[in-house]
Amino acid sequence: TLNEMHLHFPSVSINESFARAAVAAFAVQLDPTLDELCDLKTAVSEAVTNAIIHGYQDTIGVVYIDCRILPDSTIQVRVRDRGCGIADIQKAMEPLYTTSGSERAGLGFAVMKSFTDKLRVQSRLGVGTTVFMEK
Ligand code: ATP
Ligand code: MG
Repeated sequence: TLNEMHLHFPSVSINESFARAAVAAFAVQLDPTLDELCDLKTAVSEAVTNAIIHGYQDTIGVVYIDCRILPDSTIQVRVRDRGCGIADIQKAMEPLYTTSGSERAGLGFAVMKSFTDKLRVQSRLGVGTTVFMEK
């Protein structure tokens, strides 16, 4: 039987590093290279940061992480929020697109894409956002 792990925590920034470390600790069973582990941590960090600062912009909500080991010895990580949602996912995923003005680079999704093997984003305005990644 394949392993899985589930986490949820309030959307406060101190939990960004916690989430990154927790997913990395779970992924170690796949015996990844340091590079692979670094890439996974970076991608998870971007998704969790987005949930915290964009999804739950002016409020504290719950961020959910679900990890699964897949039969081909890859890991699937799902990062989900019940926040504001994304109006236009395609646009949001374009490099340099940000709704945070000059505060942010707009590179989070580009980083998630380049540091994972698969990336899929589902979102509904007023309902929330789910990011699926495989590595
Ligand atoms: P950076 O990640 O470089 O700091 P950024 O967060 O603005 O900047 P992306 O991570 O690529 O850039 O996200 C692009 C845009 O998509 C965000 O500016 C925001 O408008 C929207 N977005 C991303 N994740 C979420 C989310 N979980 N909920 C709501 N909106 C989101
Ligand atoms: Mg971002």
